[in-house]
Amino acid sequence: MNKKQRSLRLLLHCEDASVPYLTPYFLKEHFSPEKKLIKDHLSLGIQLRDGSVVPTYERKVKSVRKKKKKKTSESSNDGSSDSKVLSENTKISNEKKDQGQNLFNNSKPTGYTFVGRSLPSHFCIPDGHHIISVPAFDIIDQYKFPNSKKNKKKGKLNVAIPSSTPKELILRTQNGYQKINCNLFVNVIQGLSAKYISHVALYDQATNATNNGSSNWKKKNMQSIERTKSWTDNCLEKSDSLRIWIPIVGGDDLQSRKSAMEGALSSISHSNMNENVEGIAFIGWHHIESKEIRANVLQSCLSMMKPKFNTLQSVVLATQGLEQIMEAALAGVNIIGSNLPKLLAKSSKALSLDLYGWRANSEEDKRELGKKFSLPNTSSDKHNSWKITRTDSGKHTKIESSSNCVTTMGVLDLNEKRYATDTSPLLRGCNCFSCYNGQHTRAYIHHLVNSRELLAEILLFIHNLYHILELMHELSDAIGMGKGELFYDYILKQMKI
Ligand SMILES: [Zn+2]
Repeated sequence: MNKKQRSLRLLLHCEDASVPYLTPYFLKEHFSPEKKLIKDHLSLGIQLRDGSVVPTYERKVKSVRKKKKKKTSESSNDGSSDSKVLSENTKISNEKKDQGQNLFNNSKPTGYTFVGRSLPSHFCIPDGHHIISVPAFDIIDQYKFPNSKKNKKKGKLNVAIPSSTPKELILRTQNGYQKINCNLFVNVIQGLSAKYISHVALYDQATNATNNGSSNWKKKNMQSIERTKSWTDNCLEKSDSLRIWIPIVGGDDLQSRKSAMEGALSSISHSNMNENVEGIAFIGWHHIESKEIRANVLQSCLSMMKPKFNTLQSVVLATQGLEQIMEAALAGVNIIGSNLPKLLAKSSKALSLDLYGWRANSEEDKRELGKKFSLPNTSSDKHNSWKITRTDSGKHTKIESSSNCVTTMGVLDLNEKRYATDTSPLLRGCNCFSCYNGQHTRAYIHHLVNSRELLAEILLFIHNLYHILELMHELSDAIGMGKGELFYDYILKQMKI
């Protein structure tokens, strides 16, 4: 039944609108969309919220310029000399992109605006990648509960408080307050050009946090659903030929999610709109505490969509950890957002799951897999050598068991002293740039971690990203063979070692 199933994709969070750690050259060389693993399983999630922000300046142009002349002469390389102040009403133009910043480097911006920039010129992402632009992966993630005692004590207002009016969404970001309305948003996404790009419509998640202490939560939740629907319809009407994802908000309330879904379906059914619809995007799904409700939300919404709109896709914008990635996949979502490769790299950890054992077993006898397979329940890896088929190169590579492959929760912590003299790669058999041919040993990366070198994070990120893509590949296959649950257990057991 799943022969026509789409391959699972990881939506890698690119939070400042650039791929974490990787230069365009590296991206092109090692994560090229021409490679099957990348083409089938990697999508880049470009977050517009901060990446598209341009500072605005008040009309003190002359005085600022005089000061600047005295102080420095190195700026304004490509800013035109008669550039004008950028404002919210500025017409989008790629040529004008940086003029404000370059001319007024030393002056303090009086505000920020959210204007479009062309993807290839600014974000340096090689063409050919599958890209989804999102207003923010999760607005509530930024919410720091200003009413908490701790914040009150400190008199701290320096927190991100999302709010909204029927017309606009108001966010406080590291670049200042931003008011985003539909017109502005559509202008932004129209300014983003790339070969395979689609856009999540502007959504209002500002009021649907169940844990924000608000008593009339239900009413606010409905308000957020209504606003999201009206903004989405607006986006669909104005954005002509752009591919749009319809956001599904509704917090952790199943009924609310269903009504959001009904709204989405009515938007899709609306004449002239459905050709532009790429699919549905679940917002704030990872905040739902109960695993059952998480699964119910996805399954109910997808089953509402399936009969009529079978070709539409689904994306969960953000997840917490591998478990949620697999849950979403099992529920039928085909694109899953995560920033796990970066999070792990930042804490000096390398993902180290035994995917090769799964392959070795699955090659033996797929039907008998459930009975035959068992994981070693000690922390050391006791497998003998395996023959495996590498998906990317098509070569057969002999994998030896790594006797010192001691993992906790499926990851290696490169902070640990035991790796100081360990000359094996992060993961034997891994074909990523960091591990391939054993060119970077655990000892070397441990040393980099110890000396706080950024290179440690870079190498770990590369490995983690590659390894998660391989996991997506295996999970995709397993679901296709009806072995999704089994694979889920297989991975989960390793994470609990
Ligand atoms: Zn690797």
